[in-house]
Amino acid sequence: MRCPYCAADAGRVIDSRPAERGVAVRRRRECARCEQRYSTHERVEQQALGVRKRSGEVEPFERAKVLAGIAKATKNLHIDDAAMGRVAARVEARVRALGKRVVPSQVVGAEVLDGLRMVDDVAYMRFASVYKNFTTPDDFRRELAGLEKRPAPKSRHYP
Ligand SMILES: [Zn+2]
Repeated sequence: MRCPYCAADAGRVIDSRPAERGVAVRRRRECARCEQRYSTHERVEQQALGVRKRSGEVEPFERAKVLAGIAKATKNLHIDDAAMGRVAARVEARVRALGKRVVPSQVVGAEVLDGLRMVDDVAYMRFASVYKNFTTPDDFRRELAGLEKRPAPKSRHYP
């Protein structure tokens, strides 16, 4: 780490402690040349995550977009914002857990679907109709039949 006072590249760490409620480490450093002391904060780097759309185009993953999709699917269903936020957060966590730099949009869609399953069946069906590209009433009937057979994923964190 270059000293901010004399620009020497010869500092040493004299103290390390947790900062920002544990998400960062604050290091107290001392320059070996000018002996000035300064602090650095170290935190986990959030890796950039890209989403490959059906068109092949890659765009940055944005939780806001996931949330917008969820909001659309849950419109007029009186799902509270906190519940939608939890679904979006879960989607992001699960997609990031794959450890890939770019994921297909279908993977994100499947996670949204999985999350909506825990919130509301109507929202699930709405999202599924777009995501799975339903074109006939039979598509809805088939999905609904499957939905009734499958138990919802269990989570105490969802309403
Ligand atoms: Zn210095």
